[in-house]
Amino acid sequence: MNKRSTFLSYGKQSIDEADIEAVVETLRSPFLTQGPKVEEFEQSVADYIGAKYAVAFSNGTAALHGACYAAGIGAGDEVITTPITFAATSNAVLYCGGTPVFADIDSQTYNIDPEEIKKNITSKTKAIIPVDFTGQPVNLDEIMTIAEEHKLIVIEDGAHSFGASYKGRKVGSQAHMTMFSFHPVKPITTAEGGVITTNSEEYYEKLKLFRSHGISKTPYAEELGDWYYEMTDLGFNYRMTDMQAALGLSQMKKIDKFINSRREIAEMYNDALDQFSGVIIPKQLDETKSGWHLYMIQLDQTVLKKTRKEIFNEMRTCNIGVHVHYIPVYWHPYYQQLGYGKQICKVAENWYQGALTLPIFPDMEKSDVNDVIEILKNILLK
Ligand SMILES: *Cc1c(COP(=O)(O)O)cnc(C)c1O
Repeated sequence: MNKRSTFLSYGKQSIDEADIEAVVETLRSPFLTQGPKVEEFEQSVADYIGAKYAVAFSNGTAALHGACYAAGIGAGDEVITTPITFAATSNAVLYCGGTPVFADIDSQTYNIDPEEIKKNITSKTKAIIPVDFTGQPVNLDEIMTIAEEHKLIVIEDGAHSFGASYKGRKVGSQAHMTMFSFHPVKPITTAEGGVITTNSEEYYEKLKLFRSHGISKTPYAEELGDWYYEMTDLGFNYRMTDMQAALGLSQMKKIDKFINSRREIAEMYNDALDQFSGVIIPKQLDETKSGWHLYMIQLDQTVLKKTRKEIFNEMRTCNIGVHVHYIPVYWHPYYQQLGYGKQICKVAENWYQGALTLPIFPDMEKSDVNDVIEILKNILLK
């Protein structure tokens, strides 16, 4: 096999007729933006996760912004996070005037290393934002212990890990707040959309205020008149629409099916690529059950004759939509302008040089997976 006849993207949504029906039905209802479907979707997410509250947002980035606000992050506060993430994670800290501090990753799981978190704690540290990179949950028990010791707030970025489990429990109820994204490539989609799950009533109230201009009905509205509302803080318009929530509710019915097909694909890759010279497959810890948002291999540059760029380009030429997640965040020009250096997290930077994302999404056929494996092996051997 030399080349696929059609391009295979690294990830994409799975939409069926029931999803389409659900959205159309909402279009015919009295509510287009936040209404009964949003509440129903929030309840569905909270029940699935096993968290007390879920607050929906217009997208995952807005949800992270809300979580940073609820955590009280402001000027002078430091927030420890990983450099191997999408820029939105640390951008949310910047939105609030805080300072992201990048801690290095574990070389085998690619998730933030708790020991590195400890090294970066100062008197200014306010919160930690660990990311369940590729869908494999972080070692949350260890991170929560560090947080308790130093009175820090943990906001888990679970953009990749909706439906994944840590020590037998679904991600989303164990950190102080957890963010999930419903962008089309993520575990389920609402087109754009995100949510924060939490067990704290205080955060729950703050999140709701923040996503709607900082405006709320006051308890004494009855006395003053039914039109009365108050703006008590500077919020945003970060509301999810009922159309998005209707799509989300329909997608929720399929979440376990989606995760299972992702797991099957990951197993096929694992079986085919484990022991294959020049390829390191992603290590999974016993206590985690990944949602496999991404399947990432590490190309062993000490063994391979080709560079990552050559392999990437050849795969693309063969119509395999490989990708690289992610460029270390602080390498971006914006962060460089803020004064971040180039060699902050050596393990992460070294890992990045050999990282390659292979396609994985629920509707991917077994034959597609075999195409990827065959073409990759061919390219590596030639
Ligand atoms: C997708 C993603 C986000 C942002 O979510 P959006 O819904 O696209 O705004 C944040 N963090 C990570 C790790 C992501 O992958």
